[in-house]
Amino acid sequence: MTPLGAEITALIRHGGPIGIDRYMALCLGHPVHGYYRTRDPLGVKGDFTTAPEISQMFGELIGAWAGYIHGQRSQREPLILVELGPGRGTLMVDALRALRIAAPGADIRPHLVEISPVLRAVQERALAGTGATWHAGIETLPEGPAIILANEFFDCLPVRQFERHATGWHERQVGLGPEGDLVFGLAPEATPGLDADGPEGALLSVPGVGLGLMRLLAHRMREAGGALLAIDYGHVRPGFGDTLQALSGHRFADPLAAPGEADLTHHVDFAALANAAHTEGAIVHGPVAQRDFLLALGLNARAEHLKTRATAVQAAAVDSAVRRLTDGSRGGMGSLFKVLAVSGRDHGPLPGFPEA
Ligand code: SAH
Repeated sequence: MTPLGAEITALIRHGGPIGIDRYMALCLGHPVHGYYRTRDPLGVKGDFTTAPEISQMFGELIGAWAGYIHGQRSQREPLILVELGPGRGTLMVDALRALRIAAPGADIRPHLVEISPVLRAVQERALAGTGATWHAGIETLPEGPAIILANEFFDCLPVRQFERHATGWHERQVGLGPEGDLVFGLAPEATPGLDADGPEGALLSVPGVGLGLMRLLAHRMREAGGALLAIDYGHVRPGFGDTLQALSGHRFADPLAAPGEADLTHHVDFAALANAAHTEGAIVHGPVAQRDFLLALGLNARAEHLKTRATAVQAAAVDSAVRRLTDGSRGGMGSLFKVLAVSGRDHGPLPGFPEA
């Protein structure tokens, strides 16, 4: 058992079973043993690889996107560019390079929201000299119109889960089995006030933290202007099913097997995020498939441009990255990942999204 597993076992022994949200929050964010507090999980040697780590083109296209949005506004205001959960800082580095070309002379102020001290140190090295500022949460971000980026961020925010029975929706919990091991169970009493429809046995995920965050950000967009770009794997239609998953060494793992040692994520419910933003009075763009978004932003043209100055090996790597980022087959990144933007009323249609 991992040290965090022992701590969670003691917690349950004293206080009873805990919700999936608390379990996720402990596994990922525990101050000492949390997954994101203790390691750099990205890349070939880590547990998963993200789009910015696959190719520089991903961040560059997003930088150009941000430049276009800034161009719709008064050129004199500073360009506050925020990233939530910036990983190794790769997306920000690539975006800034493209942004300096797309928005020449702009007063760019990068802000990074990160809970991991390990990743923050990696980001500080990558972004040295850019004037970037770090934050532990969105509360300390500067006011005013901002362009906010979030790639693979909403998927690691805690969710609650409920299972439908004749008596109502019962919260899914982590408790102790007969051997004292961690097991999934259900709260004996139904949760009052949850009136969603669903067949017997259906599993409902409620992304409370993510929805709360989206409401705050959408409110900010409506009041101060700006745009938020959220990219994640997830579904466009609400649905039932367990999408909580653990990844370790690029393979799926049992979410209860090694608390704090494996990444724990869930498929993002884009319908719920879009609805939360709309309710706050912001304008919602998409969601669209990552494949369509990147192709609309000119991924192929960018790839061709890179290839004009590339060796044969580099050119093959560019082609392979384009295929990976746009792979529309079942489970491929191009279709599994969705892109959602939320903007204030001062913006028209945004690049990469079909006009509503
Ligand atoms: N966006 C990066 C990394 C994705 S991994 C990329 O695409 O490569 C998730 C990132 O979110 C990590 O940097 C992790 O440390 C950070 N993170 C996780 N939970 C967070 C939270 N509650 N607040 C801020 N950052 C968080």
